[in-house]
Amino acid sequence: MGLRIVMLGAPGAGKGTQAVRMAQEMGIPHISTGDIFRKNLREGTPLGTQVQGYLNSGALVPDQLTCDIVADRLQQADCANGYILDGFPRSLPQAEMLTRFLAGRGEKIEAAVNIDVPDEEIVGRLSARRSDPDTGAVYNLKFNPPPPEIADKLIQREDDKPETVQARLKTYHETTEPIIAYYGEQGVLLNVPGSNAGPDEIYRRILDVLPA
Ligand code: AMP
Repeated sequence: MGLRIVMLGAPGAGKGTQAVRMAQEMGIPHISTGDIFRKNLREGTPLGTQVQGYLNSGALVPDQLTCDIVADRLQQADCANGYILDGFPRSLPQAEMLTRFLAGRGEKIEAAVNIDVPDEEIVGRLSARRSDPDTGAVYNLKFNPPPPEIADKLIQREDDKPETVQARLKTYHETTEPIIAYYGEQGVLLNVPGSNAGPDEIYRRILDVLPA
């Protein structure tokens, strides 16, 4: 039986990298609201058009729209044995809506993994983040370097450019950080130090604190 897990942490803390690996090894889906929005943007769907302005400026997509999309996703069959939510919830109202949605099904979040990285480090990490447009794989030029043969095709996310990073960090502190305390009160918060170590070491730290 898998777990229902949420990943917390500032943009660039390593949530996505760890979530992908955890999902693979646990055999449960990785659900990233950022990935869902970017895919819709690329494909030019009505949802993509609706969220474009928010993504490009680093602002949050409205809570209700985001929650509707997640609720829809969580009702799919592959979510029956747990999942890893990455980038959601990102505000207290989203966290509360998720709790209510799950309670209605007799379910709850069993672990909230908070990857803790100081702000000074975040800015450097985001500017070094690159992704493979074909596979979606995410690398960091310093901490998680890509294989040299694909280096030329890697792209930088539009919202990882310096002008948007500050806006995203501000939104993180004002709107997202309070949910760390929310999951603390629910007794499911797991804090993992996310600096001074590569992805393998952080992964080991997560496994150490996750419930069996
Ligand atoms: P991410 O890939 O998680 O950094 O998300 C990229 C962008 O998608 C964010 O800067 C927001 O504009 C939007 N987004 C992703 N997840 C959420 C969420 N839970 N609530 C609101 N907006 C979100």
